Amino acid sequence: MQTYPIPMVPGPVVVPENVRQAYLKPYGSGDLETEFIDLYSRTQRLLKAILDTKDDIVIQSGEGMLALWSALKSCLVPGDRVLTVATGVFGYGIGEMAQSIGADVKTVGFGYDETINDMARIEAAIAEFKPRMITAVHCETPSGTLNPLEELGRLKHAYRVPLFYVDAVAAAGGVPVLTDDWNIDLCLGGAQKCLSAPPDTCFLSVSVKAWEIIEAVNYVGYDALKPFHRAVKDRFFPYTPNWQGVAALHAAAELLLNEGLENSYNRHDIVAQMCRRHLVDMGIDLFPTADAIPSPTVTAANIPEGFTWKAWDRRLRQSGLVVAGSYGPLAEKVFRLGHMGAQADMELMKKALNVIAEALRHR
Ligand SMILES: *Cc1c(COP(=O)(O)O)cnc(C)c1O
Repeated sequence: MQTYPIPMVPGPVVVPENVRQAYLKPYGSGDLETEFIDLYSRTQRLLKAILDTKDDIVIQSGEGMLALWSALKSCLVPGDRVLTVATGVFGYGIGEMAQSIGADVKTVGFGYDETINDMARIEAAIAEFKPRMITAVHCETPSGTLNPLEELGRLKHAYRVPLFYVDAVAAAGGVPVLTDDWNIDLCLGGAQKCLSAPPDTCFLSVSVKAWEIIEAVNYVGYDALKPFHRAVKDRFFPYTPNWQGVAALHAAAELLLNEGLENSYNRHDIVAQMCRRHLVDMGIDLFPTADAIPSPTVTAANIPEGFTWKAWDRRLRQSGLVVAGSYGPLAEKVFRLGHMGAQADMELMKKALNVIAEALRHR
């Protein structure tokens, strides 16, 4: 099987050795065992620190998308008004997901190369539409952007919107995510982005208000959140706990907190700045507009002139570098370097930039 010495895909991120080791240990049966309940509780505490929240944390078995779906399906009933603030593939996508389960969705949309900027337009929409839920994406991974959420959280509070749903899958651990300060009720994270764990667990914070609504909605399904409300207390999980996955997530969260969140944020910032500066120096245009906020966890840039995405991808792979293309309207136009988690590494980034420079010299 082909492997690449310079992995720069924005998830799944390369998994560090001690996280891999935690995944591979032989564990008990999981169900009802005291050690599993203890591991789950300790992992919840670490994730609270990473999401900067006092709220409850749910850890589920599945990728980030599971958290996106489980939070929507567990909180919404048909006809509920959802205000979707969208700046990219995931932002608009969440609106479509809410619509598919019967919600009445209104979208305040921006360009895919922009970040949230017109608060007056958003405030007017909240005042007029009176949503039950506001949705937003922190790091819009396909665009390489980072949306500011503080003002949105302030509006949620001021207009007494019951639920603020935030996809922080590609942000949590790599940039400050202030769940409580920003009044977020459902803050969603995944294992395979900035935490550098295998892609089989996801997690989310659930506020007191969100639990109230989840209990009342009483959604039943494999992805339902309700059974997790009292899972630890009752020592009963809705399906066989993913002991390996939670152990890996625990090891990854511990690694991050031992480094220190501030140190991790700085590391991401420095590597991202170097990435953007060098790409621009090489004549490659960054995808986000000059006014947009670029994400410290992923850089999106236009595919250089003279290359199709396929040719560009093939050329970089020849030298051991694997990057990502993008989705939706950005497909074939944008390529991305995922410098998140273990890949927010100066040496790795230097190697990646050298390969890109070389590819351009010989075009
Ligand atoms: C990766 C990602 C997801 C989905 O996570 P998966 O683990 O791929 O299911 C959701 N939202 C954003 C912003 C992401 O970057």
